[in-house]
Amino acid sequence: MAEQFDLVVVGGGPGGYVAAIRAAQLKMKVALVEREHLGGICLNWGCIPTKALLRASEINHLLHSLDQYGFAADNIRYDFAKVVKRSRQVAGQLSAGVKGLLKKNKVTVFDGHGKLAGKGKLSVTKDGKPVAEIEAKHIILATGARARVIPGIEPDGKLIWSYREALAPDIMPKKLVVIGSGAIGAEFASFFLNMGAEVTLIEAMDRILPVEDAEVSAFVKKSFEKQKMKILTGAKVQGVRKNGDSITTIVEVDGKVQEIIADRLISAVGIVGNVENIGLEATKVKVERTHVITDEYGRTGEDGVYAIGDLTGAPWLAHKASHEGIIVVEAIAGQHPHPMEVGNIPGCTYCRPQVASVGMTEARAKEAGHDVKVGRFPFIGNGKAIALGEPEGFVKTVFDAKTGALLGAHMVGPEVTEMIQGYTIARTLETTEAELMHTVFPHPTVSEAMHESVLDAFGRVIHI
Ligand SMILES: Cc1cc2nc3c(=O)[nH]c(=O)nc-3n(C[C@H](O)[C@H](O)[C@H](O)COP(=O)(O)OP(=O)(O)OC[C@H]3O[C@@H](n4cnc5c(N)ncnc54)[C@H](O)[C@@H]3O)c2cc1C
Repeated sequence: MAEQFDLVVVGGGPGGYVAAIRAAQLKMKVALVEREHLGGICLNWGCIPTKALLRASEINHLLHSLDQYGFAADNIRYDFAKVVKRSRQVAGQLSAGVKGLLKKNKVTVFDGHGKLAGKGKLSVTKDGKPVAEIEAKHIILATGARARVIPGIEPDGKLIWSYREALAPDIMPKKLVVIGSGAIGAEFASFFLNMGAEVTLIEAMDRILPVEDAEVSAFVKKSFEKQKMKILTGAKVQGVRKNGDSITTIVEVDGKVQEIIADRLISAVGIVGNVENIGLEATKVKVERTHVITDEYGRTGEDGVYAIGDLTGAPWLAHKASHEGIIVVEAIAGQHPHPMEVGNIPGCTYCRPQVASVGMTEARAKEAGHDVKVGRFPFIGNGKAIALGEPEGFVKTVFDAKTGALLGAHMVGPEVTEMIQGYTIARTLETTEAELMHTVFPHPTVSEAMHESVLDAFGRVIHI
């Protein structure tokens, strides 16, 4: 006899578990099926453990900059196994926290693999054996995504790492090659660099962090290079050669082929949606290039089947997955949630220097036909950043010259990942330049640079 629910969610990542909790708040009887770890990639193999590692590399960097602050210490060293262990513990703690939250909200959790098994039906198996048959009027697919693999550069758990192996590394490589300079590649490159590795970052596009504003990409490149990272852009990886305990990457740049020998290689060339083996074949759910197609309320081509998060494509971000989960559930409950405004989803990269942005780049705004006003403010003009000893970076704001709408904001520098939310709220509230200029910012804070950037766009900057 199948167990009956109002809603079943397949996948317990930030999309799935948030959707399940919101549904429970709305008095639905909810089940969640998770085959591996509650918290999904984000808590276990993504957002959180990377930030725990990056905290360690930030501390290592600070310890090697002590003189700047009037301190001295000899024999600074770290225990790499302990650094990794702490990151895994943080991940474990948060995954256990999700289990507690689901219990508190009376969500029934099934440990196993969920697969659509007919209209309103889902089968759950564990190690190939049946665990449960579930029936629900609504099924949300939130199965996430995994690392994209380049043929010939498949992660092997030893010399070639995907993000999974890079998050639980068995050694601290002395020399490292990272292929792909999106957020994931840039964060790993920055982590290992700041822990003391010699890092080469390879990017096929003509600039690193290619989705960011071109000025931000150029600034981060310069900063990474100042930190002695080697960066190859417009670079085509032709292949790799494994040599016992090292790996040679063969790469072509400007028609010249070079070989880079490293201890390990991290492949961070994008992700693909987990669309396989979830029973989509027998449904009207449409899949395009490994991502499920949905409308603005997460509805797929199959009645009663919804999809959210990484499974539905870019931007591949935890907060996008969670927010989609809430929209879908509220729509199922008959509420009228605002559809997702993709342009208001902030993106952050926690490398050193940090990068954060929301909305359109200057180039995109111009392509979209806007007559723009652009403001810039460097942290070297900000008292708090100087006091912190981190005056590197800037804030750039892009406005529509006619309406004063904030089209985009782009930041690189200290704690910008904590500050971008200010501009995100402004965009969500459709705030104009006049209201932003009228806003009082506390002094001394790094956030004053956000105000100054707005002032600069309208010829009113004070401190530069
Ligand atoms: C190294 C790294 C760093 C990242 N850093 C950030 C960051 O700083 N900020 C940010 O916003 N995003 C970050 N991301 C992206 C973020 O992790 C994802 O966007 C987010 O996890 C997507 O959430 P989701 O719920 O859609 O899917 P996931 O988190 O992938 O969860 C899907 C879950 O479904 C389960 N599952 C899959 N198929 C089945 C099935 N058939 N039955 C049962 N269970 C199933 C999986 O086991 C998984 O637990 C990072 C990603 C990586 C890899």
